[in-house]
Amino acid sequence: MHLERIEQIRRDFSRDIEEASTESALLEVKGQYVGKKRGVLQELMAALKTLPPEERRAFGQSVNALKQELEAGVEAALGRIRAARNAPPPVDVTLPGIRPDLGTIHPISRVRREIEEIFLSMGYAVASGPEVEDAYHNFEALNTPADHPSRDIQDTFYLEGDLLLRTQTSPVQIRTMEARKPPIKIIAPGRVFRRDDDVSHSPMFFQVEGLVVDEGITMAHLKGTLAHFYAKLFQKDVAVRFRPSYFPFTEPSAETDLSCVLCDGAGCPVCKRTGWLEVGGCGMVDPAVFGFVGIDPERYTGFAFGLGIDRMAMLKYGIDHIRHFCDNDLRFLEQF
Ligand SMILES: [Zn+2]
Repeated sequence: MHLERIEQIRRDFSRDIEEASTESALLEVKGQYVGKKRGVLQELMAALKTLPPEERRAFGQSVNALKQELEAGVEAALGRIRAARNAPPPVDVTLPGIRPDLGTIHPISRVRREIEEIFLSMGYAVASGPEVEDAYHNFEALNTPADHPSRDIQDTFYLEGDLLLRTQTSPVQIRTMEARKPPIKIIAPGRVFRRDDDVSHSPMFFQVEGLVVDEGITMAHLKGTLAHFYAKLFQKDVAVRFRPSYFPFTEPSAETDLSCVLCDGAGCPVCKRTGWLEVGGCGMVDPAVFGFVGIDPERYTGFAFGLGIDRMAMLKYGIDHIRHFCDNDLRFLEQF
């Protein structure tokens, strides 16, 4: 009978304590159950006196246990209410979030990828070679003998012994022709290094080399290839013209001029009012170079060309100083 009452009190208490959401409501519940004057426990203590002496001891222990349980329950609830009051305000999920800064692709990488895409679509493979080269691949095998002016210490970063930082991507031509027989159709994009530093030159810059070797390759193929490539890259009709030039590893050699992509040939400061932009060297592979790599010059001909990726990016995005590419200025980089 009395034990049933204890169970009843337990259930009521846990319901009431659950409902008390403020400190004052909780104190109300506390007074109701464990209060010295009118608490439910007082009622049980009063009942104790009416019990026969042999039952009093067990009942008294039950009441004591209940008392401790109720007091602990009140303390725990008080702790929860106080913690909730001191907690930081709830998150307002309707507020706009903080956008994390995302990196963007560097303009050089962008243009390099575009160039690769264009040539891949024309059936070229992308080749690569070491940036630390030996003199043989960078000069010798490209028909550039030891007394050639481009081998001058003024122009080239020499390393230990026979090694140097490649001054051009052309050694990849040699490495490709050493490893494979024609037909060959590759581009080789990559870093090159020269002792050079001004508005349009930096000691490190990016080049793309192109090489095609097969039977019956002519200079007309070369010109058509470059015209198609530049039209795709700048997404406009362009004209390409060749001016006779000299490179040790091509014969005949030419400078490639591109109709100015900024003024469409009308004349502007970038093209120095000529309507033409100098964009790179090219020519037919010198038979002497075929001699270094064991390709029969009687059977095969080929063309090669080179162009600067930095220069293409400057023209494409109207960038006036090559230094911007290396400054890591976010105001510059975020525009791409
Ligand atoms: Zn122009």
